[in-house]
Amino acid sequence: MGVIKQLPQNVANQISAGEVIERPASIVKELIENSIDAGAKNIEIKIEDGGRDLIRVKDDGHGIEADDIESAFNRYATSKIEDIDDLYSLYSLGFRGEALASIASVAEIEMISRHQESDQAVKIKLKGGEIINKKPVGSTIGTEIIVRDLFYNTPARYKYLKTTTTEFSHISKIVSAEATANSDLSFKLYHDGRQILSTPGNGKLKDTIYAVYGSEIAENLIPIDVEDRYIKLSGYLCRPELTRSSRSHELFFVNGRPIFNNLTAKAVETAYNKLIDPGRRPIVFLFIKVNPILVDVNVHPAKREVKFSRSQIIFDVIKKAVRKTLKKNDPTTRIKLEQNNDSNEVNKEEAEENIDRSQLFSENNDQRKDNKSELQKSETKNQLSSEQKSSNNNYNSQSRNSNNYRGSSSDNHSKKDYQKNINYGSQEKQHNNISESKKDFKQIIEENENQEYSLAEVEAEESYFKFLGQIFNSYLLIETDQGLKIIDQHNAQERILYEKFYAEFNSKDQASQSLLLPVKIELSAEEREIVRQYEDEIREIGIDFSDFGNNTILIQEVPVLLKDKSTRNIIEEMIAELAEAGKAKSAAEIQKTMLEYLACRSSIKAGQPLTKKESIQLIKDLYKTENPYRCPHSRPVMINISREEIEKGLGR
Ligand code: ADP
Ligand code: MG
Repeated sequence: MGVIKQLPQNVANQISAGEVIERPASIVKELIENSIDAGAKNIEIKIEDGGRDLIRVKDDGHGIEADDIESAFNRYATSKIEDIDDLYSLYSLGFRGEALASIASVAEIEMISRHQESDQAVKIKLKGGEIINKKPVGSTIGTEIIVRDLFYNTPARYKYLKTTTTEFSHISKIVSAEATANSDLSFKLYHDGRQILSTPGNGKLKDTIYAVYGSEIAENLIPIDVEDRYIKLSGYLCRPELTRSSRSHELFFVNGRPIFNNLTAKAVETAYNKLIDPGRRPIVFLFIKVNPILVDVNVHPAKREVKFSRSQIIFDVIKKAVRKTLKKNDPTTRIKLEQNNDSNEVNKEEAEENIDRSQLFSENNDQRKDNKSELQKSETKNQLSSEQKSSNNNYNSQSRNSNNYRGSSSDNHSKKDYQKNINYGSQEKQHNNISESKKDFKQIIEENENQEYSLAEVEAEESYFKFLGQIFNSYLLIETDQGLKIIDQHNAQERILYEKFYAEFNSKDQASQSLLLPVKIELSAEEREIVRQYEDEIREIGIDFSDFGNNTILIQEVPVLLKDKSTRNIIEEMIAELAEAGKAKSAAEIQKTMLEYLACRSSIKAGQPLTKKESIQLIKDLYKTENPYRCPHSRPVMINISREEIEKGLGR
């Protein structure tokens, strides 16, 4: 007698159910997707005990016809595809008519469904795949499915279930992703009677993100919208200041489905590289539309993994688009000028007169003081208007060749703003020449011939900059097509040096070198403990030391970069940081701290006068960095006052 036997249908179902139903969250996903496929507007999900006791999904979709209600539970019974080719152009979420059959084989399932063209609902109950009850009942249009006693007949699988919290967190992750993918539908999720989530279903992605992921994330979103030959990207990226320690908030949707894909995650992370700390993950809600031919969603029936057939192209497009969007969209801290409505009318009239502050400056010395304080209080309307009243009108004598000015072909305003701005810078300098920088200052005035520097080669929000001057010996003023920018010279140089050091440090020929005179560092007991704890990481970044007894260590070898710097300070600072951190840091994080410290220490300070040449070089170098807008500690490098703000402030 042969040994090969046909498994009973029920057992076969249980086995293949394993592919689909790993845990309660997989059931929730299947049921939600069925509701979406049925055209529901509202989907309500109720969970008890992490899904072990109860999973109930109710929708207001088109419902199931009474005649179909039993066949919905047959394996490979589906209303969604007719033959194999349909699988490759699959737009519905269901797969192969397996979900309901699989759920029915491992749990007790009850379904109440009323088709949109019927006045009555049918209620059906199955256990272990067998129908145990079926009758007509009254109900609204739509479908409700209740799953109880999950894995009652497969104890091994039941045992694999994790704690209620873990199982529910899987469920909530899935509901969150589905709700985000379908912002035109309203989702409500309850756990043990408590409402956990409720989305408006108004079709606005941002509102949905707000409802699901909270206000902090919603307020820090940068829209992304990029179309390429192969793919279209939309959705939101989160500002790099906001990160997570895991990939939990990297959400990808391919052709509307939430998916997991290593390639897309990597592409986004590469784009965020250096904008966020090592070990942190960005927050993104990225919708990827590609021709279905380029994706295979059927890699695994339950896990939402997809495979792209032209992965390199997809990787590059995503990386570039994310990078560009991050750089372009509002990375500068914006300042808003207060609008004082009372004086608006007056200011409008006065502004018509083409006031030229440079004339004010050179011909009316008494006004000089006012002009200086005016910069500090540029938001104070009254101040502005009093100055405008007393100033005379001679703009044209200062006007320059408008061909130099990008984007100004249609009006004069920008030129005027430019003139005003340039005088802000130079007045300030003039004022400061009371102090030591007299000579530099004169020189700057002479040099000030309105030269424009193109930023076309660097990927910046701005396309050019024009240097206007240094103020308070600390900040550089520039005009760009984005507005008037005030750059913190210290933070700017910190950014430049950090990237330079980072590149040097990670270049192949960055070796460690022995110190001729080893540096002795005395540590507290706590610090000694820290050094012990991080011994491997410290050596990994190229610092070699030996124990000198009595909580003293002897630094013998340091990376070349540190060699001629104050090794002691840098290492002491690093240890202090580690002691303060309170949590484990990787070698990469320690290295970052060290380089930040080094960059900070080596940078020009506030209060140091710079020549025009130095300033321009600094600004050029800044724009060549990966992120000119933030210093390595994420403080802003520059603030921007847009032309609109200036004009609004001036009542134009
Ligand atoms: P699939 O979704 O792959 O078709 P399922 O086992 O999930 O397979 O569902 C089987 C069939 O039951 C579906 O094709 C659909 O016709 C019907 N169905 C399931 N859930 C619903 C629902 N919530 N609303 C309307 N019809 C449904
Ligand atoms: Mg389905």
